[in-house]
This record gives sequence, C-alpha cells and structure tokens, in this order.
Amino acid sequence: MASTPELILEQFRDGLIKRNPGEPEFHQSVLEFAEFVIPYINANPKYLEPKILERMTEPDRTIIFRVVWEDDKREVHVNRGYRVQFNNSIGPYKGGLRFHHSVNLSILKFLGFEQTFKNSLTTLPMGSGKGGADFNTKGKSDREVMRFCKSFMIELSKHIGPNIDIPAGDIGVGAREISFMFGQYKRLKNEFTGALTGKSMEFGGSLIRKEATGYGCAYFMEHMMNHNGDSIKDKVCIVSGSGNVAQYAVEKIIQLGGRVVTMSDSSGFVHDPDGFNEEKLAYIIDLKSVRRGRIKEYADKYKCKYFEDKKPWGIKCDLAFPCATENEIDEAAARKMVKNGLQALAEGANMPTTREAISVFLEARIPFAPGKAANAGGVAISGLEMSQNSIRLSWSRDELEKRLKDIMANIHKQCVAYGAEKEGNYINYVKGANIGGFVKVADAMLAYGVI
Ligand code: NDP
Repeated sequence: MASTPELILEQFRDGLIKRNPGEPEFHQSVLEFAEFVIPYINANPKYLEPKILERMTEPDRTIIFRVVWEDDKREVHVNRGYRVQFNNSIGPYKGGLRFHHSVNLSILKFLGFEQTFKNSLTTLPMGSGKGGADFNTKGKSDREVMRFCKSFMIELSKHIGPNIDIPAGDIGVGAREISFMFGQYKRLKNEFTGALTGKSMEFGGSLIRKEATGYGCAYFMEHMMNHNGDSIKDKVCIVSGSGNVAQYAVEKIIQLGGRVVTMSDSSGFVHDPDGFNEEKLAYIIDLKSVRRGRIKEYADKYKCKYFEDKKPWGIKCDLAFPCATENEIDEAAARKMVKNGLQALAEGANMPTTREAISVFLEARIPFAPGKAANAGGVAISGLEMSQNSIRLSWSRDELEKRLKDIMANIHKQCVAYGAEKEGNYINYVKGANIGGFVKVADAMLAYGVI
C-alpha cells in the first residue's frame, strides 16, 4: 500500500472550506488548531493514514429544530434550536447552550470543536458538544424566557441524557434558564438525573460551578506568571465582559492581588483606574445578573469614564483577560497592547482573539493562554457536578476548589509539555493546548478502528 502523503495546511484548509461553506468561525477555530497539530501529525504518522484530523473536524451529528413560543402579548415567535454533538470518543457529549441573536451553525460548530480539546485537557471523561438558539433573552420577561426554554427542551430532551449528552450554560444561559430547562426535562422524562449541569444547589448543582470558569482563568494566568518567576500581585489588569466568566475572573484576580481597571458589555466599557474591589464587584453582579442592566450605570455610580461602543484594549495594562465573546481582539488591538507593554493574556471567553492577533502575541513572545486551556475550569466543575450526581453526594467548597486548582495546574503542565520551545523559557501555550488536547482524543479514536 502506498504511504499516505503528509498533510499540507493549505490543502487541508481548502478542503475544510469546501466541505463547510459559509462557516467562518468554524474555519477559524479549526485552522488555529491545524496550524499546530498538522506538523505533529506528520511527525507521528500513526494519526495520518487513519485520517484522524479529517474525522475530528466532522461532528458526529448536528440536530437543528424549530422552537415555537408565545410572548406575553400572545404573539407567536419562531426560533431555530441546535445541538452539535461533536465527538464522544472519551466520554458523553458535553458543552454549553448559548442563547443569543448571533447564534448560527458556524458559531456552534466552532464552539463544539474547541470543546473537544478543552474537555480532553481537563483529564475528565467528557466528549464535546455545543448547542443553543438564535433567541435573545435581553428585553424578555421571565415568563417569556420560561416559555422559550420549555419549548426548546421539548425537542432537545430527545437527544440528551446523563450518559448521552449533558448540556450546560453559556452566553445568555445562566441559572434561570438552566432551571427552566431542567424542570422541563425532568417532567418530560419522569426521572431525576443529571442531564444538565450548572443546576442550582437545591436540585443537584455543584458548589463553585458559577465561579469556576473565571477562577480557573485567573489560576491559569497565575501559573503562567509563576513560570516566569512573577505573579498577578500588583499587576494592572484589563477584563472584558461583565457576565458570568468576567465577574468571577475579576473576583479571583482581586484575591490574588491584581488591580482590575476595566469591565465591559456589548454597549461599551468602563475604566476605573482605582480598580474594582469587592463592593464594586457586588454592584456589577447585581447590575448584570439580577437587574439585567447596562454597564454604563457603573460609571454613573462610581464616577468613572464610560466608553460607548468601544473595547478596553487601548487601556495600558500588564495583563489582559478577554471574557466576553469571540473575535474581540483583532490585529490592530493586539499591536497596541504589545506596544503598551502587555506581559501576558489569558482567554476567559472562547476564541476572543483573531488568528492574526494571536500571531502578534506569539511573535512578541508574550505568554498567551488560549480559551481551551484557560477557560476549562467551568467544564471541569461541570464534570465534577456529573460525578456528584452519579454518586448522589455533594462535595464541599474546599474539596471542589482544591480539585479546580489541581486541574488548572495539570492543564498548565500539559501545555508546557507540548508547547515548550527547545531553547529559552518561552511556552507556546497555543501549540501546547492544541497538541495536548489532541493526543488523548486521537488515541481513543485510533483504538476504536475506522468509525
Ligand atoms: P454571559 O452571558 O454571562 O456574559 C457575556 C458577556 O459578554 C456580557 O457582558 C455581554 O454583554 C458580553 N457580550 C456578549 N456578546 C458580546 C458582543 N458581541 N460584544 C461585546 N460584548 C458581548 O456569558 P459567559 O460569561 O458565560 O460567557 C462569556 C464567554 O466565555 C463566552 O465566549 C463563552 O463561550 C465563554 N465560556 C463560558 C463558560 C461558562 O462557564 N459560562 C465556560 C467557558 C467559556 P451584554 O450584557 O451586553 O450582553
């Protein structure tokens, strides 16, 4: 048999785009991965002939469905629901649900793909998936959100289960939405099982789940800084977003001694040079998660500057934590940040940095933690919520925080193992996370034969 030719990035890219037309976010995430994994595959031909990369970039299945619901005025609305079950080689499908007007197949395929390697890096037995709907919770009453969630779950419930696929939250899906959906799932199935994570404590949730992504991201940054003999302490930090991930990244950065000077939402950002403290953060959490207001109100209350329709990347800082959404940092922003003396960046959001911007950071040899490593803490605690549901016990906060710390330390170790440059102390965390996440999933797929 003729030997399989080596993979060439450009040829692979052309095939990917042809097979998945009109899906730019999916192309972006796969190509960021392929750039580092293709040389590794070519050097390890056992992955080449069975076409592991081609198989890994095709989801196991994609489910698309209609979601119909009535608003408070009895007007009927039609939305589109999705679940992309990406890869279950190392465990049941696992990944969040996003409710946002921008949701489409490209975004969910990119998120599901990223999830594959993130979940692998946690070392927990979790496959990957992602889902959601082009439904915006903003401006909707609780009743409207409830009716949407219940309608959405009528179809989704046919495809998920504690050993099949376990969704969680993401943008637009927090404790309120998970509760509505879990209540409906339980009712439709007539069983109480951990088919969703991110549940409230009264019905099978886990302590520190809501904090885990943000805390984990700050821990990861601390590991990167420690690797270079430094720490977060006394560093000026800029954070984007003011949702779940941003709130708890800020909390942990403050606890580790950093000074956070920005937060944002989709309308603009606030710059508070004195830094957020516990009281100010409590105000943000109430504003964004309870009152569902706009970040501008923070600037009015604490008499600091508000920048409408702007992102915080021009503010001088030592450390950056993009925690809002994809493609927030482009090449021009990255160049500005490097010029301003940025020392390191950890992605709390998924793919907040464009490929061109990542190249700028890597060329400047700035430690850059991609989301699949730095924001894996959330899904890790979701995995532990599944474990607690299975044994019908709840672990203590201390126990879970210790496990979260250990998992983030272990992810850092895997990134160092696969991303350390031959000379010097620089770690290419993008390379490390991609290859580290790839190996376990690829080996499982090899073991299963040609499926
Ligand atoms: P939330 O919905 O709680 O918060 C999202 C935040 O991002 C809000 O401040 C929101 O502003 C802002 N935002 C949303 N869209 C845009 C946009 N287009 N431009 C600027 N700002 C925007 O979501 P999460 O905090 O849960 O998620 C944030 C990111 O982290 C996402 O990329 C998500 O995939 C990722 N992530 C989340 C995990 C989790 O455990 N929740 C786990 C791992 C990754 P506004 O209030 O105006 O909408």
